Amino acid sequence: MIQASGSDAPASETPPVAAQQADRADQADPADAASPVEQPPADQALVSQQTQQSQVAQQSASAQQAEAEQPLDDADRPAAPTQVIEPDDDPLLGFIVPITGACITEFEGHLPSAPRAYRNHGIHEGLDFYQWASCVTISTATEALAAKAGVVIRADTDYVDITPDDWARFQQDWDAPGVLDEARGRQVWIDHGRGIVTRYAHLSAIAEGVAVGVEVEQGQPIGYVGESGQQEVYLDPGSDLHLHFEIRIGDGWLGQGLAPQEGRLLYLRAFGLAPPPPDSGG
Ligand SMILES: [Zn+2]
Repeated sequence: MIQASGSDAPASETPPVAAQQADRADQADPADAASPVEQPPADQALVSQQTQQSQVAQQSASAQQAEAEQPLDDADRPAAPTQVIEPDDDPLLGFIVPITGACITEFEGHLPSAPRAYRNHGIHEGLDFYQWASCVTISTATEALAAKAGVVIRADTDYVDITPDDWARFQQDWDAPGVLDEARGRQVWIDHGRGIVTRYAHLSAIAEGVAVGVEVEQGQPIGYVGESGQQEVYLDPGSDLHLHFEIRIGDGWLGQGLAPQEGRLLYLRAFGLAPPPPDSGG
């Protein structure tokens, strides 16, 4: 859609990359940057499919989380399982930040459930790490780390970069099957068991030895940050480098149905950067 190019095209709304990055480093003003930077990414085909089909699955997986952490959900939630999970045993705790030294941005556009207007009902399903917002230098040499031990269930080792024709096709219908996945570029997915999967998107390369079926340890590099799947990869290489990271819960995702800042809190807890929810037994 034409409309998409407005919000999608960083070039039209943002200063040249170098200036952009320099500015943003000390500017931290989210307002100017939002979608141009992150954008098209990832996520919506799944949202539309998954949210419909899988509210239930997601609910059950995230119920404990929502329950323990977001009492405000009580009204919405169907009677969910009320299993009590000890903090040590909570599958949504115990992750590490997937880039060494990175902080968790407060910029809404990079948080879960941030709107992606150009995709109609699009919603961001994960957490972004950009140099200008995440306290860390990011390049294609920046390692993406396994946030928790697990088994690799996807590693796009034979990935081929998108072309302008591909991007044009995405814009024609972001809801077409597979489009969102293509826009996530080169990816690695890790299964942590109990319905929890982490996804690492827009990678520039996959780390050596990482392949489907391989067990990885927490902190192990699984790939390198990039901008694959985004039009910048051919328009203005290097201008959109970031890691898009997701914690998936069943067919849903951490922070789904919550405000972006609430989703941020769940990520902070997942990373051990905020206290875990009070024990629901108390
Ligand atoms: Zn993202």
